Amino acid sequence: MGCFKHDDYISVTMEFRCNLKCVHCMIEGTMDVLQPQSNQVFEEVLAEQARHQRWQGLILTGSEITLHKQLIPMVQAAKAAGFKHVRIQTHGMHLGQSSFCDDLLEAGVDEYFVSVAGCDARTHDDITQVDGSFDKMMEGLRYLDQFDHVTLITNTVVTQLSYALLPELVTSLAHLQRLRQMEFWHYWPMTELDDKKLIPRVADVLPALEVAITRAQALGRVVEIKNFPECLLGNKGHLLDNDQPQLLIDPAFWDQFNRNGFHQCVYREECTSLQCLGLNDAYTAKYGWEQTLLSPVRDGALIARSSGNSSV
Ligand code: SF4
Repeated sequence: MGCFKHDDYISVTMEFRCNLKCVHCMIEGTMDVLQPQSNQVFEEVLAEQARHQRWQGLILTGSEITLHKQLIPMVQAAKAAGFKHVRIQTHGMHLGQSSFCDDLLEAGVDEYFVSVAGCDARTHDDITQVDGSFDKMMEGLRYLDQFDHVTLITNTVVTQLSYALLPELVTSLAHLQRLRQMEFWHYWPMTELDDKKLIPRVADVLPALEVAITRAQALGRVVEIKNFPECLLGNKGHLLDNDQPQLLIDPAFWDQFNRNGFHQCVYREECTSLQCLGLNDAYTAKYGWEQTLLSPVRDGALIARSSGNSSV
């Protein structure tokens, strides 16, 4: 469980352009097709908030929300409508400009959900395919870290290219005082096959993920994990949280999302995990069902399997 209550937030996708080219981008094929939410929808959210104070926070997202020319007025309007927190979900590159950070802070953005792809400039920029993106993102995090009221959250997509970097990635952010939560999202390709060859085997990911979790927790971070078999996480299973705040997005996104084919597991009928998404089409096509690795969870406890490899 993360440190934010999903019901307290609403996410609105307001921008579908991006100026990075992350190899793991899950919407690169649909970015040109997906439409941002209209100003009318945005105003309806603000009106609902002004009337009923339904949420604590607004998340402004999309491919790269900092490219939206009206971002600052949108944040100001959200604050005027009574949102206590305004979060932006960003690759962080534009945060390298302190004057831009100042504008965001002054308008009222107090939560920064930043994608960290690698553990240093070489690995991060290889994944984003834009030189200098790591240094600018890190400069932005350093700058924002000075402000007491700021909350930093990071998100890392776990792929074949990044899973081994996770422990060092946590260490590379150890200096940040305001980094409250680190999220690790096991990659899904939005299609039936792993065309980009980015899905890592869960058994390969697990050792690095465990070290990353331990390091992050030792630094006082809350850890949230997405799309990883709960049964492999052992006593860290409670860190799996696949829920999200309500998301306002182009309905065409869900057509693409549903192509993943989540919730596949040979133990689904007997497993009581409420959070686990099991495996997906692309994973099983690549690695099979992993039936000797996975073990059904029942009443929160792992059922020991005769193979003896059920706990970690
Ligand atoms: S047995 Fe399957 S559904 Fe249950 S926790 Fe493991 S992967 Fe998830």
